[in-house]
Amino acid sequence: MNVQRPHIPLKAIRAEVAECHRCPLCEGRTQTVFGVGNPEARVLIVGEAPGKNEDLQGEPFVGAAGKYLNELLAVAGLARDEVFIANVLKCRPPSNRDPRPEEIQACAPYLREQTRTIDPEFIVTLGNFATKFILKTDVGITRLHGTLQRAGRFKVFPIFHPAAALYDGSKREALENDFTTLGELLKS
Ligand code: SF4
Repeated sequence: MNVQRPHIPLKAIRAEVAECHRCPLCEGRTQTVFGVGNPEARVLIVGEAPGKNEDLQGEPFVGAAGKYLNELLAVAGLARDEVFIANVLKCRPPSNRDPRPEEIQACAPYLREQTRTIDPEFIVTLGNFATKFILKTDVGITRLHGTLQRAGRFKVFPIFHPAAALYDGSKREALENDFTTLGELLKS
């Protein structure tokens, strides 16, 4: 990450994303999903890509996974409007399929600019895609969740994606434990 470059205002990055046609996902979107929250957040939450509800509402983590994320943030002592929430991809993959490497490559500069501008202390990566992208690793989320990592000057804390717990109740305990640990890290 080139820290010498001047920060681009979030408003300008949002405007560029709204008009983006860098990858074929632009064809199926209702709208882009830029991200939401405190522009000076200490914690940047990074998910994978918009789903159906996010595509319709233009906001990340709405619906059941969003409600659960809000509960998990509260476990860490955080309110949703205190953090900034964004995804690696800004447009919904059809039928919620996995992001493709070329789509991640096309969209990644936006998340990089957002990160540079917000300049958080912590990046919380939710799920495999966000974790592998931010940490540039092939190690999966099952091994990395709940461990404090580093990417450049950022502290990175990988956690399972909240949607995983909606389908697999056994992930709930791990998610809640990891958000408890995040709350402790934020106090230290
Ligand atoms: S996913 Fe990203 S790169 Fe692809 S069209 Fe949407 S904003 Fe552009």
